[in-house]
Amino acid sequence: MNFIDEAVLEIMAGNGGSGCSSFRREKYIPKGGPDGGDGGMGGNIYIEVDESLNTLIDFHHKKTIKAGNGNPGSGKNKKGSDGKAKYLYVPKGTMIFNNETNEMIADLNQTTSKVLLAKGGEGGLGNARFKSSTNQSPRKVTTGTLGEIVSIRLELRSFADIGLVGFPNAGKSTFLNKVSSAKPKIGDYPFTTMRPHLGTIKTNDGSFVIADIPGIVEGAASGQGLGIKFLKHISRTSMILFFLELGNNSLKVNQQLKLLKNEIEEFSDLIFNKEFLLVLTKSDLLNQESIEEEITSFNEELQKNIFPISAITGSGIDDLMNFLKEKFNRLRD
Ligand code: GDP
Ligand code: MG
Repeated sequence: MNFIDEAVLEIMAGNGGSGCSSFRREKYIPKGGPDGGDGGMGGNIYIEVDESLNTLIDFHHKKTIKAGNGNPGSGKNKKGSDGKAKYLYVPKGTMIFNNETNEMIADLNQTTSKVLLAKGGEGGLGNARFKSSTNQSPRKVTTGTLGEIVSIRLELRSFADIGLVGFPNAGKSTFLNKVSSAKPKIGDYPFTTMRPHLGTIKTNDGSFVIADIPGIVEGAASGQGLGIKFLKHISRTSMILFFLELGNNSLKVNQQLKLLKNEIEEFSDLIFNKEFLLVLTKSDLLNQESIEEEITSFNEELQKNIFPISAITGSGIDDLMNFLKEKFNRLRD
């Protein structure tokens, strides 16, 4: 499943520090020469790949990234210290565009080394620099130059291994929120998930990505609701987790599955034949007996793939996650 993950950022390199105006003052040297040092360089901003990342989620709530300013020079010809550089770490495959011109700055699929995004300003010159035969005590200094400011757009075509499919309110966002570093919005009403949220789950040897897809409503395949836009993407995940809500008074879990499958089947057989698990959510709402009853309403083949969970008590979540971690425990390419 491919999604375009995006972030727009204002990148501000550090300003150069000012040059210093100072004169040597020592005992027995009544009129010392100029000894004001230069200002330090402003910090640069670089971008670099971190292979352990899969999403741009770290940048979704950031607006500006600023590197440190250079420090001013001081007496005794001391140069100001340079501003601290900033590094942005992004997943492999991130493309960087100038957000104003749309020009591509870098494609981090091809580049393994760091890329300079914004250059820090030059430090100003201290007055020691302006000493000449005609001017033994210059007071002149220059200020540092400003750091570069660039508006950039990061784009990542993310691939999700697992898609969550369920009616609104089934508990998809709550689950993803609990098991990954993604922070989907959770609400008590349908369509809280307006766009797919991607959550990364770490395994021993790597990680995999789960996508929370907006709740499918009946009729999604024929163009109703938000579901249709995402149904086509599901076909590219390796696995589907059907989220079926226990304790739903109007629809038993096996009826929910039937309706969901109808929607999907109508859209494409490809998806229908995909590997899937049945996740029965909100197990805290029913007693064990009723849960067993719901489970046995599925045929024996389906019963092998059932995981009852509760995001509230945490029951069943480790079992499900361990199963998935074992299955997707491989390095992503
Ligand atoms: P989504 O539409 O499938 O993303 O569903 P949400 O994750 O937004 O959850 C819908 C509602 O169900 C929210 O009020 C959640 O607090 C609630 N909910 C989610 N998981 C559980 C659970 O395990 N037990 C109970 N009792 N409520 C849950
Ligand atoms: Mg949701």
